[in-house]
Amino acid sequence: MAKSIQAVRGMNDILPEQSAAWQYLEDTLRGVIHSYGYREIRLPLLEKTELFKRSIGEVTDIVEKEMYTFEDRNGDSLTLRPEGTAGCVRAALEHGLLHNQVQRLWYAGPMFRHERPQKGRYRQFHQIGVEAFGMEGPDIDAEMILMTSQLWRALGLREITLQINSLGTLESRAAYRVALVDYLHGCESSLDEDSRRRLNSNPLRILDSKNPDMQAIIGDAPRLPDYLDPESRAHFEEVCAILDDAGIGYEVNPRLVRGLDYYSKTVFEWVTDRLGAQGTVCAGGRYDGLVEFLGGRPTPATGFALGLERMIALLEAHSIELPDNSPHVYLVLSGTQGIRRGMVYAGELRDAVGGLRLQVNCGGGSFKSQFKRADKSGARYALVIGDDEAVKGSVAIKPLRSDGEQETLTQQLAGQRLRELLDIDWESRPAGKAD
Ligand code: ATP
Ligand code: MG
Repeated sequence: MAKSIQAVRGMNDILPEQSAAWQYLEDTLRGVIHSYGYREIRLPLLEKTELFKRSIGEVTDIVEKEMYTFEDRNGDSLTLRPEGTAGCVRAALEHGLLHNQVQRLWYAGPMFRHERPQKGRYRQFHQIGVEAFGMEGPDIDAEMILMTSQLWRALGLREITLQINSLGTLESRAAYRVALVDYLHGCESSLDEDSRRRLNSNPLRILDSKNPDMQAIIGDAPRLPDYLDPESRAHFEEVCAILDDAGIGYEVNPRLVRGLDYYSKTVFEWVTDRLGAQGTVCAGGRYDGLVEFLGGRPTPATGFALGLERMIALLEAHSIELPDNSPHVYLVLSGTQGIRRGMVYAGELRDAVGGLRLQVNCGGGSFKSQFKRADKSGARYALVIGDDEAVKGSVAIKPLRSDGEQETLTQQLAGQRLRELLDIDWESRPAGKAD
């Protein structure tokens, strides 16, 4: 036998038994995001490497050590996207979406980072991201946070807490930077290698360090909020006021800086302690400088991304009940005429009962083995068509999960009867849209 080939480390298959949870998650998130008036944008997985270097920042974990970068056959340097914001801004600029207008956009899909794989941290993972352009006030920052809070409610998730902070403008950050570098120079001998390297290139990033040995030093560092400019302070207070009015609890975390270069003013993270070390499920904030930095006109922007693998783990931790996607009905067939008629009849039934999930027995088998498969499929009813029924134009309906009697009726009437028996709110649903 040939040696089997395994998936790339840190890149997971999502198997059929897991996909119900993924669909529930994606459908729910999409529903809430659409209810806020955001529109989907679909973006390529590959972008020019330069885009990420310029937008995320050269001295960040992502650009320094996590990107999947390669030369394509033309010799161009390309990178598998490690996050979605850069590509979204690139596309919005390229297609003139930011010209004298506001935009509310979202996207979803896989992201790629060459990190050490562990629970909640993978090399291919999935995000849903939301970005809003052209609005500079605290209202849109608050909307982002209200929307995420609505997402948790819609999913039935509790025990996620909100941390927020303001990074201020570039100018106020510069003043803070001086104070921070001054302080960090004082304890340079205790800094880890990454932090020592960043001391001169990107000292704020040190506050984002995951190294436990660095936490005491970070805890005693000067606090960003003490250096905020008045405008950023007022902006931040207004975000907080809206959250207060909406009854959303939060913790102001003065050490929250986020790992990317492009943030300014409001930043936030939703964290949980239900997932061990990888507890941040959603992160975002304002990035007013990025559009201009990527060649556009100055355009205020704010957004967030949430990690779907960690959301799935949370759904599991909360034992959230998932919608049942198994077939409603299993069609048992026998005899040449029975099979021929049944294959066609299955399509007629699906047309007649929009949303019906009907699985046809293919591959033959005795009645006994077909009923075994019917049971295993999770269906509530079996329909039976043999040569006899094919000739007569009839069909038998047999309950699989209750003691009810088997009924035989005309093939024409069976659709109506199934509607009654299954008692689902079918109301004008297109095929495949039932719950
Ligand atoms: P972390 O601090 O956990 O490394 P990050 O700041 O690098 O996260 P972002 O770039 O803000 O993460 O991405 C937003 C969200 O995407 C994170 O909050 C997390 O839920 C998810 N995420 C990020 N990296 C990974 C990964 N390697 N595997 C799975 N999910 C991830
Ligand atoms: Mg990271």
